[in-house]
Amino acid sequence: MERFAGFRTAAVRRFGAAGAWAYDQWERLNEAFFGSGCIVGEIIWEKALQAKRLGYYAPGKNRIGLSRHLMRPLYPAGVLSWGFRHLNRKLAADILLHEMIHQHIHQTGGWNGENSHNNDRFVREVNRIAKLMGLPIKAAVIGKTGTCSQVRSDARGYLSAAALYDFPYSVREPGYYATCTQRPG
Ligand SMILES: [Zn+2]
Repeated sequence: MERFAGFRTAAVRRFGAAGAWAYDQWERLNEAFFGSGCIVGEIIWEKALQAKRLGYYAPGKNRIGLSRHLMRPLYPAGVLSWGFRHLNRKLAADILLHEMIHQHIHQTGGWNGENSHNNDRFVREVNRIAKLMGLPIKAAVIGKTGTCSQVRSDARGYLSAAALYDFPYSVREPGYYATCTQRPG
């Protein structure tokens, strides 16, 4: 708890409201989905991440990185005024949850498999968390003859590679991330 407060204070100093938000969400998600079992580390709002890469987990440093693209207004396009008021909270919370799955796996024995997503532990976490979220999906480790990555799920209903790798944002309902603050007036 003291450790958490220390990290949070440092993040507020460095990132202001966005720093506080990230830690409050981390704590909420940790309780809701991991039985408060994740061990807190740095959560950084990264400037340099590409638009398509919205988050990462660095196991060696126990660091979660979130992209500042999550704080960029979608409308009007091209506006450069990034800021906490533009944060897409639903999307950022899902990105954070995804990185916390990696964090939790790393902190509870790691994984064996093809990569950090296509392995038994990640798949089990996806199934467990999807159930808690009420998302009607199921995942399985994808073999060499696996599904075409362009579709969400295969004939048996298991997530495709692309959907598995981007859980949970790959499986949200269309429009789930649209928020009033990001629509033109
Ligand atoms: Zn990942």
